[in-house]
Amino acid sequence: MEAARTMWVNGPIIVGAGPAGLSVAAQLHTHGVPSVVLERDDCIASLWQRRTYDRLRLHLPKRFCELPGMPFPASYPEYPTKHQFISYLESYVAAFDIRPRFRQSVSSARFDHAAGLWRVQASSTEDEDETTTEYIGRWLVVATGENAERVLPEFPGAGSFKGPVTHVSEYKSGEPYRGSRVLVVGCGNSGMEVCLDLCDHGARPAMVVRDAVHVLPREMLGVATFSVAAFLLRFLPLRLVDRLLVLVAGLFLGNDLPRLGLRRPAAGGPLELKNSSGRTPVLDIGALEKIRAGEIAVVPGVRRFTAGGAEMVDGSFVAADAVVLATGYHSNVPQWLKGSDFFSGEGYPKAGFPEGWKGESGLYSVGFTRRGLAGVALDAVRVAGDIAVAYNQNNKASSSCTAGCPVLQEPVP
Ligand SMILES: Cc1cc2nc3c(=O)[nH]c(=O)nc-3n(C[C@H](O)[C@H](O)[C@H](O)COP(=O)(O)OP(=O)(O)OC[C@H]3O[C@@H](n4cnc5c(N)ncnc54)[C@H](O)[C@@H]3O)c2cc1C
Repeated sequence: MEAARTMWVNGPIIVGAGPAGLSVAAQLHTHGVPSVVLERDDCIASLWQRRTYDRLRLHLPKRFCELPGMPFPASYPEYPTKHQFISYLESYVAAFDIRPRFRQSVSSARFDHAAGLWRVQASSTEDEDETTTEYIGRWLVVATGENAERVLPEFPGAGSFKGPVTHVSEYKSGEPYRGSRVLVVGCGNSGMEVCLDLCDHGARPAMVVRDAVHVLPREMLGVATFSVAAFLLRFLPLRLVDRLLVLVAGLFLGNDLPRLGLRRPAAGGPLELKNSSGRTPVLDIGALEKIRAGEIAVVPGVRRFTAGGAEMVDGSFVAADAVVLATGYHSNVPQWLKGSDFFSGEGYPKAGFPEGWKGESGLYSVGFTRRGLAGVALDAVRVAGDIAVAYNQNNKASSSCTAGCPVLQEPVP
């Protein structure tokens, strides 16, 4: 694709204006390093603003979700609402003077070995006119997130189902489903919470639980389970902490989960699986009670859809008026980062945590640790510190325009 124009970036090019991209831009700002943030959407944190349901709160206590350099307001509750989180991010952007370039969807990024520079192509679609800009700079920070694209499994017979089929990223509230039978495919935190929300709006959800899942109480005697785990990990090996978590979960949630259709994985504890495969344990906020009360049905995997519902792998039939796919997301890095083997085919740094933040030739990644916002903060501090050193060395060595120059220049020097 021929770029309509070319811009020289005097600093790192950051792809993505979610919490990760904003954190690294803020940290760079505190080091006096300018940056350019490219965002495909027209707002910051589009996952939170555009692709989450209304009742969402942070799943983890707020102290594990702060971005570097700015605490949450003291008035915020332990689990801030998504609106509070977005408002915090807006204050963050203002405090660190971050001005992302919106509607810049990065379609390709490649290191030009001859020039020793990254060439990043971004297309902007406004009023149906597509313009392409090539950004050129010494550093590239990948911050497009673990949740960039929806996972939409292909089910046999899906086309024959007569009702609406919605991915959870488009689900806002249970209100439109009032009185309906809704098949929710997926039993992660989103699937469970959507079922809870559907119950609260007078709908009748059936939750598809295909795989084994770890369910933990969100809190134990008023203390967040996540805090307990983080504390124990300071003294004990992960596998032992996992065993304790499963034991305590049994005490608080009961040991009848397999009978309810929620089997624990035979191999791998909740933290081990989260770190190795990204499968987050479900933090129960009330869905179990509804399952026990029969308000949420638990059903096995889908074999195929029919006009009025789905035939399940055990041969049973579940009638449904609508389907919500809580089937998760995936990284999109392999679609646009070319000529680098730093990322795996699944779009995660091959090196894994804690090594996966720095690649070759000025390539960095933030937010691919499978450790949520706490991992984002760790990466952002490391990445910004490392780039700041290189940027300042570059400034001293180079007579070309760097410090004090505008961050974006046209044409390329
Ligand atoms: C429902 C839900 C609840 C969650 N709750 C928590 C929680 O309580 N605590 C926690 O720690 N984590 C939570 N997470 C995980 C959460 O996604 C991350 O912690 C956080 O949003 C990660 O930030 P990020 O910037 O890495 O990714 P994102 O927030 O996904 O931001 C990435 C940005 O990159 C942009 N982008 C993608 N591709 C391109 C491209 N090609 N060109 C330009 N821009 C692009 C996207 O539009 C997006 O704005 C939750 C996730 C979900 C889905």
